[in-house]
Amino acid sequence: MAKITLPTLLLLLLTAGCSNNSGHTPVTGSPAGQKPANEEQKRVMTSTSPAKFSGEHAFTLLTAQTAFGPRNPNSAGHRGCLSYLVSTLRGLADEVRTQEFTHTGYGGEQLRLTNIVASFRPKDPARILLCAHWDTRPRAEQDETRGRRNDPIPGANDGASGVAVLVEVAGLLKNVPPSIGVDIVLFDGEDYGKEGDHASYLLGSRYFAEHKGGDYIPRFGILLDMVGDKFLELPKERYSLRYAPDVVAMVWKTAASLGVQQFHDETGEEIMDDHLPLNEAGIQTIDIIDFNYPDPTNRYWHTHQDTPEHCSAESLEAVGSVIASVVYAQVP
Ligand SMILES: [Zn+2]
Repeated sequence: MAKITLPTLLLLLLTAGCSNNSGHTPVTGSPAGQKPANEEQKRVMTSTSPAKFSGEHAFTLLTAQTAFGPRNPNSAGHRGCLSYLVSTLRGLADEVRTQEFTHTGYGGEQLRLTNIVASFRPKDPARILLCAHWDTRPRAEQDETRGRRNDPIPGANDGASGVAVLVEVAGLLKNVPPSIGVDIVLFDGEDYGKEGDHASYLLGSRYFAEHKGGDYIPRFGILLDMVGDKFLELPKERYSLRYAPDVVAMVWKTAASLGVQQFHDETGEEIMDDHLPLNEAGIQTIDIIDFNYPDPTNRYWHTHQDTPEHCSAESLEAVGSVIASVVYAQVP
């Protein structure tokens, strides 16, 4: 994903043909009556979840992906990780399908891209959508070493972290089935574009949004991206507040009730990410993202330092426990 500028925002809104949704006021106030949970409350509330999210296990799902090497389109790591994710999810979800499509790369080559859709209760009309991108960036334009800027990145945080959380959630849903339908969608081609070439980003989510069918109307969507940072801090991303303020409020309230303090009650930046095509297609979707990795200087983002040692099981657990609570709180 990329940070976005105001002219780009206007362009996106214009191309989507929608008006400025100025009736929505960003939710920035504290949830009424919420106090930070103490250790005892935290333990009690977490233990009431029907299935316990394991950050340690999720971390092994992160390193299982980085072990394939970079997962940029058409690479060996991309092919290997695709078959690993599909076979893993086939062992967990009720139904797994893939969406295969192509995109012409910068060298004129055809990129072979695949979205993975893992569904629980696939026939249930009441559904929610959880998503992340599984591809990694083919270049490291932010790296300090000029000579390595054209090499693909490891993508431990920017790629593997969101997927790790969602595959672990799939494991919980296999053991304790949800009472509504859940679609876990792993997008390809999110991070292919060169800086400024916005049309070559978000390839998988655009394809998914264009081919979803008019009868696919999940209640809401939650996108996870860069959720593994060891120093995780999650403000409310600005487009999420614009498009899906109620979903932001619900998720941050859940985090507060669990005592998960990585979710901050403050407004973050505008991030161009896979939630934008979904929102433009009518699925209210938020982006849970920590763009400051590890701090506002963005030292590891789109560099070769985006490695597992800069991520943590604790951060994955913080996000995963909130997602699990949100899923199990849904009633038909
Ligand atoms: Zn990225």
